[in-house]
Amino acid sequence: MKKVSLEGLQRFRERTRVVMAGRDPEDSYGFVNPPIVRGSTVVYQSLDEFMARKARYMYGTLGNPTLDALETALNVMEGGAGVVVCPSGLLACTLPLLAALSAGDHLLVTDSVYRPTRNFCATVLGRMGVEVTYFDPLIGDGIEALFKPNTKAVFTEAPGSQSFEMQDIPAIARVAHARGALVLMDNTWATPLFFDSHKAGVDLSIQAGTKYYAGHSDVLVGTVSARTPELYKLLRSTWETLGVIVAPEDAFLTLRGIRTMPLRLKEQEQAGLEMARWLQGRDEVLKVLHPALPDDPGHALWKRDFTGASSLFSIILKPAPHAAVAALVNDLALFGMGASWGGYESLVLPFDCSAYRTVTEWKPGGPCIRIHIGLEDVEDLKEDLDAGFRRMKAAM
Ligand SMILES: *Cc1c(COP(=O)(O)O)cnc(C)c1O
Repeated sequence: MKKVSLEGLQRFRERTRVVMAGRDPEDSYGFVNPPIVRGSTVVYQSLDEFMARKARYMYGTLGNPTLDALETALNVMEGGAGVVVCPSGLLACTLPLLAALSAGDHLLVTDSVYRPTRNFCATVLGRMGVEVTYFDPLIGDGIEALFKPNTKAVFTEAPGSQSFEMQDIPAIARVAHARGALVLMDNTWATPLFFDSHKAGVDLSIQAGTKYYAGHSDVLVGTVSARTPELYKLLRSTWETLGVIVAPEDAFLTLRGIRTMPLRLKEQEQAGLEMARWLQGRDEVLKVLHPALPDDPGHALWKRDFTGASSLFSIILKPAPHAAVAALVNDLALFGMGASWGGYESLVLPFDCSAYRTVTEWKPGGPCIRIHIGLEDVEDLKEDLDAGFRRMKAAM
């Protein structure tokens, strides 16, 4: 196998790049994958080497070969200037905010944001003296009216966590850049394979790698990709300053996960769409929230900007009492009930956004359930939900 440089990788197509990136058998004693390198101390050969701080690795908190391999592979997928890896997706949301903001700055955040990100804004950013204004995810370039002289960044997420509103990221980025503000985006739903966020103008692009990257519900990890070398420097120095190194086993598992991610995503996209359409045809379902469905309000934006859909969407049930919803979800054989997603297994999660929206109203018209479709056979998944709907009817 001939050694391929990072530039050389560019001549290959995306799937090939995901398989090739961040692998150098010469550096791995001939093995296909990089070794898991554990360690705090790095020893130096001489006083001069130590004084010059020139070794490839300096200390455990500053990186190691396993993490290097992952960062390289992620950077090839993201197409930016550099990636940092964090020990959770939540930290990947909060780290770039800490990197970008100072006391006295103003931040715009989508009202449909992942709830723990909102919690960080209300607590830590509040104490830091950062002012936060929430915006309607459908605002588009109307966001201009919310800018203040001290607006430093806009935090976006598309589609919205749980509620799946699409955002016009390129339009928001045009306004923000004209005002000298940075655009952050939580791009976990689409991953860089289905939405090229940097090309759309996103400066700092976030992934909860816990989801499709790792892909097996066995790792907590997050990543942030910077669009420009200057932003990467800022991000990297904040990462180093905070000491948020990810364990090498987790870096290794994430790297292992992304090798098969294009295949898993392709399969899960199709299965998710099939389940979404099947649910649209059910009597018990009022609405399916999935931007890849032609009648979804976000479909035009999704079609314009995204190249695929992942397997997470929500349904709104026709009004039903609590006991009937419980009868539906309690005894499912294949769908677990729980947070997180992006693994190989299917999940349901009842939710209600109304308690934490501040500038938009959440009035869905019935009980809401978020659904993640895994890699099971869709016919089995349909039968499982069909039995659930029959239990639900019996409990009405
Ligand atoms: C899960 C999730 C996160 C956080 O990831 P963790 O690894 O669970 O901390 C962030 N953003 C979105 C959209 C998520 O779904």
